[in-house]
Amino acid sequence: LLAPQDLFGDRRANSQGFDQSDVETLQRIAAARDAARPVAEVLALRPATGSLHPVINPATGETIGEVMHVDAATVTRAIEDARPWDAPAAERAAVLRRAADLFETQFGEIFAALTHEAGKTLPDAVGELREAVDFLRYYAAEGETATAGPRGIIGAISPWNFPLAIFSGQIAAALMAGNAVIAKPAEPTPIIASIGVRLLHQAGVPRSALQLLPGRGSVVGTALATDPRVSGLVFTGSTATAQTIARNMAAHLAPGTPLIAETGGLNAMIVDSTALPEQAVRDIVASAFRSAGQRCSALRCLYVQEDIAPHLIEMIKGAMNELVVGDPWALSTDVGPVIDRRAQSTIADYLEEHRARILHQLAVPQTGTFIPPTMIAVRGIEDLDREIFGPVLHVATFRGEDLGRVVQAINAKGYGLTFGLHTRIDSRVQEVAGAIHVGNIYVNRNQIGAVVGSQPFGGEGLSGTGPKAGGPNYVGRFFAPPVASIPD
Ligand code: GLU
Repeated sequence: LLAPQDLFGDRRANSQGFDQSDVETLQRIAAARDAARPVAEVLALRPATGSLHPVINPATGETIGEVMHVDAATVTRAIEDARPWDAPAAERAAVLRRAADLFETQFGEIFAALTHEAGKTLPDAVGELREAVDFLRYYAAEGETATAGPRGIIGAISPWNFPLAIFSGQIAAALMAGNAVIAKPAEPTPIIASIGVRLLHQAGVPRSALQLLPGRGSVVGTALATDPRVSGLVFTGSTATAQTIARNMAAHLAPGTPLIAETGGLNAMIVDSTALPEQAVRDIVASAFRSAGQRCSALRCLYVQEDIAPHLIEMIKGAMNELVVGDPWALSTDVGPVIDRRAQSTIADYLEEHRARILHQLAVPQTGTFIPPTMIAVRGIEDLDREIFGPVLHVATFRGEDLGRVVQAINAKGYGLTFGLHTRIDSRVQEVAGAIHVGNIYVNRNQIGAVVGSQPFGGEGLSGTGPKAGGPNYVGRFFAPPVASIPD
């Protein structure tokens, strides 16, 4: 498969940011060649059966490894082998903290896998590793004094857009409550998942308490959501998939089995005429285009007050022109590829459909699955019929007297994840924040990158069930509910 020079080319010690004298750093990064080894050997207790599939680097289209998509019989065997983790809570917390330390020491391998398998830019990879480590330490602290028992076996189904952070956050919370976890990584990102599980095992999580089952949602996800021995599911992904999982669970699992779902968003930002334009533009561009728009928190529909709109839109175009789109392994890159060919063609079709309304669009490399960052004019959020999971920003204008109607239109979409507001009027912050129905409101800043512990993340309505990830109620949901004692 890949040799280090394929992974890093000639750039590894030049102007792309790695200091030639930092031998240790370079050695660790070179160790990332391990990330490309086949993930055919599945981290379940008994040998898995299934079929082999290539793992693709989205920036180049190259095959970087192979993964086994396990069959339903393997899921059944993993459920039979799963055992809740009966160590005391303080010991579980110590193991999760040890895993966090290992994640930090293995940063080279992790950055390489995030970049080559998920198309993450290096700044995004750094942010993701920090978030994963924060989840491990935060849930360790949240659960270490708890005395309640586990629910049993938790199925953890995670997304490719945060293949380490959300993946390990789900697992850490469920493990911290003493459960056995069966983790199904997203189809495009099994290598990074296998690194995470390997490090968790190395830190001391028993193999019977954590098994990794890569495969198709329709096989592994369905098997987990329909086996009555599963006592809870945690899922991050699309709203439609969450609804399918909920239907399966309702038909096969005990009533009241929890589904903790973090799903999509149609997130808006309002910029009124009192906003600081430079600050608003910086935050709009970060919210819409960072991670190539592949965050459920990303800005999809911007409302700019009419009187400043022409000027602000020109400034956004200027800021977009500064974005570097390309090789995610180069430190100067701001926007990498979208995850795969299917995502690329769905978004490209959407852009083609809306070609007449494009206000601005960048050029992108012809190889790999890139989508040009694009700004599209709309009348309002009602023109958006679905979440476009890529670097596409829709822009509408509004008159000051219509602010209430704009808030109503945003609420009427039924999603409720993030919302941004740029204004210098204090009373407007209170008024709008009180009326908007979302999980996370950001004022005079960007609306992505919720920080574990200080900005619990999650939505309402079509955006999820709660409790919020990285918040004080999350681990509690994974413990068995207390049994009321009935007096004789
Ligand atoms: N927690 C991430 C953020 O605040 C988004 C998670 C997601 O996209 O699923 O940007």
